[in-house]
Amino acid sequence: MKSVQEPVTVRKVFPTMGTVHTIAVEGEQALFAAGQIKVRIQTMDRLWSVFREDSEIAALNRGELITASEDTLRILKESVRISKETEGVFNITAGSLTKLWRHAMNDERIPNPCEISKALRHTGATGIRIFGNHVKLKRGWSVDLGGIAKGYALDRALELLKDTGTENAILNLGGTIGVTGRPIEIGIRNPFDPDGEPMGTLLLDNRCAVTSGSYERFVRIDGRTFHHIIDPRTGYPSDSGLVSVTLVGRNATALDALATASFILGPFHASPLLKRYGIEAIFIKTDGKVLKTEGLSDTFQFHENMRTA
Ligand code: ADP
Ligand code: MG
Repeated sequence: MKSVQEPVTVRKVFPTMGTVHTIAVEGEQALFAAGQIKVRIQTMDRLWSVFREDSEIAALNRGELITASEDTLRILKESVRISKETEGVFNITAGSLTKLWRHAMNDERIPNPCEISKALRHTGATGIRIFGNHVKLKRGWSVDLGGIAKGYALDRALELLKDTGTENAILNLGGTIGVTGRPIEIGIRNPFDPDGEPMGTLLLDNRCAVTSGSYERFVRIDGRTFHHIIDPRTGYPSDSGLVSVTLVGRNATALDALATASFILGPFHASPLLKRYGIEAIFIKTDGKVLKTEGLSDTFQFHENMRTA
């Protein structure tokens, strides 16, 4: 007779957080762990989606005083902290700006300068007030957790794996990837390859890899390209000469936020910040050149015909 405790691999693919998550969990508790992860992430999506009227973030953005759940409070505090460290370049209070650009991109029109300066006036950490577990925004301010939510979700999912004693797992939350147990190789996408072929392979060993890029969500208007990562210093999509940045490290929440920030800052200005966090990076520039940090020399291999700077 088969033991019910036999190790199994459980795969789940589920759409949430505006993307698709794919998880593969192996071990005696795999079914339980995978189920817990799915429910936990879907709960976060319900709390944070700006597309659901009943989410905590939607209430916050309507100007309501909210009593925040534990996860909401934690991600807001972490976001504010990273915002300070990046001098406001990573900025969840840029919600008015990101919303303006989201609509403009859907309608294929460039926002006018008045709209941009109005949104800029309603961006900045002074607009968010946290006292105890209560949170309120200043009038006209808006929060967008799109640049950090998947990283935070990945950290909580990895904790759940630990709690259930699960040894091997690969979690891919819309491109935000975490691995426990057996190391795996992942492809780093070549943004210039029309078929999405990888430009190199990264060995992930109990680490996370997060990519921010301009090549997946963009529109062309009047011959110019606009993407979804907005520089809160200018109010426009960032223009630091990068197509993508991949960060590798252990804290997925910080990786996600810092990937967004590094994409805006560019390699030169992002490097000191990444060093402080012990994070490794691969930067792909618009001219096709690739920069990578020294710590990746053993774990990242270029595929043939890729150039390095
Ligand atoms: P993706 O979610 O596409 O994998 P990112 O983690 O870089 O990539 O997140 C981009 C999202 O972050 C945008 O769609 C928007 O919701 C939000 N965002 C855009 N600009 C900023 C910014 N400067 N600071 C914080 N969040 C931002
Ligand atoms: Mg991010």
